[in-house]
Amino acid sequence: MEQPISVTRSNFNDWMVPVFAPANFIPVRGEGSRIWDQENKEYIDFAGGIAVNALGHAHPVAVNALTEQATKLWHVGNGYTNEPVLRLAKQLTENTFADKVFFCNSGAEANEAALKLARKVGLDSGVAGKSGIVAFNNAFHGRTLFTVSAGGQPKYSQDFAPLPNGINHVAFNDLEAAKAAINEQTCAVIVEPIQGEGGVIPADIEFLKGLRALCDEFGALLIFDEVQTGVGRTGSLYAYMNSGVTPDILTTAKALGGGFPVGAMLTTDKFAPHFSVGTHGTTYGGNPLASAVAGAVFEFINTPEVLEGVKHRHQYFLDALNTLNAEYQVFDEIRGQGLLIGCVLKAEYAGKAKDITTWAGEEGLLALIAGPNVVRFTPSLIIPEQDIDEGIARLKRALAKLAK
Ligand SMILES: *Cc1c(COP(=O)(O)O)cnc(C)c1O
Repeated sequence: MEQPISVTRSNFNDWMVPVFAPANFIPVRGEGSRIWDQENKEYIDFAGGIAVNALGHAHPVAVNALTEQATKLWHVGNGYTNEPVLRLAKQLTENTFADKVFFCNSGAEANEAALKLARKVGLDSGVAGKSGIVAFNNAFHGRTLFTVSAGGQPKYSQDFAPLPNGINHVAFNDLEAAKAAINEQTCAVIVEPIQGEGGVIPADIEFLKGLRALCDEFGALLIFDEVQTGVGRTGSLYAYMNSGVTPDILTTAKALGGGFPVGAMLTTDKFAPHFSVGTHGTTYGGNPLASAVAGAVFEFINTPEVLEGVKHRHQYFLDALNTLNAEYQVFDEIRGQGLLIGCVLKAEYAGKAKDITTWAGEEGLLALIAGPNVVRFTPSLIIPEQDIDEGIARLKRALAKLAK
């Protein structure tokens, strides 16, 4: 066989549209919660591909599902259904509030489908002008024009005006502000149970309950964006299960395929029929390869052992991080649920989160930021304790650079 084309990090700047600024090394191989770069340097993975690699890298359950399906059937298009997608739909509906599923390839597409469905339900209600969407400051819902407009960070949307209208943003966790914004013309309220990209900020349970009551009062759909919090991330299968508040639509992606691109919009028998043949669609959504992997990953995660393990690891992480912080005094607060953890920098270190992740990389640790002031960890849900210990030791060396 011919040698593969040789590439280096600087080729990224040569050939890639510059919307990312990747680290200065290139990962080539992974196993569990460790990866190796082109120089065979080893890293502990506390990033998990941004809350995606729920089983770590090259987990046999995912590898087997992928390779088995790869020899059978990759793609047929939605003029035909397929066995893996029906099995996955059965798993998702049997284990959540939902009765029906629409599959797609990403979180943004799942939210796009959710917002379009809510608009259609609003239209079908016959109430004039029932198209308003209430969303929250600092929220993140994806990068399509509709979802980036629903997101609450104007810096991501303002360059692309004119934007879809009818979206009203109010303060997160401020029920009075939401109450003032929700009315008969509202077709949907979209909220993350924990704002992920926005800084790992959990929604108050009373806030979510209040949104549920307001949606019921005004006939609006409550959409939970669980793209980041879903599939075991918080120690429950979905974060809504922690709050006792059931949404009308739930969106899930990131960890759903354990690293294979797949997304889904879940809803009920009450709302699903407002989409009919041709109202919405996708070429790849529900593809057999993606569905087979997602089905295997979902089955593995949705067990008491794995979900309890996430809660246990949460405490283990917190103890280790608090010990570190007692020594270095860099974090004001450590927050989040399960294995979605945010460390908020003290004011004197404001804006330094990116530097910390760069230094962490030098020390052999992959970590994330959530805004300029929060260091975020979203590792594999089954990361071994010894990898947590080793990652914390490397984080300690990175924090030592900051404290200097
Ligand atoms: C990542 C994320 C999205 C977007 O998902 P993509 O797969 O990047 O389109 C949407 N909502 C939330 C809460 C996310 O964390």
